[in-house]
Amino acid sequence: MSSKSIATRAPRPAGEREEQDLILVVEDNKASSDLTAYLLRAAGHRVMTCTDGADAIAIAGQEHPRVIVMDLQLERMSGLEAAAVLAADPKLKAIPRVAVTAYAMVGDRDRVLRAGFTGYIAKPIEPTTFAAQIKAFFVPESQHVADAT
Ligand code: MN
Repeated sequence: MSSKSIATRAPRPAGEREEQDLILVVEDNKASSDLTAYLLRAAGHRVMTCTDGADAIAIAGQEHPRVIVMDLQLERMSGLEAAAVLAADPKLKAIPRVAVTAYAMVGDRDRVLRAGFTGYIAKPIEPTTFAAQIKAFFVPESQHVADAT
């Protein structure tokens, strides 16, 4: 897990950053956070974790992760509140925000997307496809720049 996986990765376009893609996982349940981080690291990503929406906003501003994977019910600021703040921030709104939550009832998906999330994955997550589901939310770095202006 700790060994570099550069040799197994596809060549990156010129000008793209050398380091592994950073994904921020925001989840207050330790077992869920550990599993999510494990699956993403196993797929070659760099992962940071935190347990609260306010921390997620602070880390997003400092680290500019490629994607934010966020639970809805968190410790202080909820995922819905944090997603709304991120979506309204000109410097951060281009970072995709994916809700991962047990709420799988009809209507919740629309509620989550209206609140400021880019996408939605229902728990329980499927370990064999989860990393690919998250990577599908990546947007090109060039688009990041375009959206940030
Ligand atoms: Mn939670």
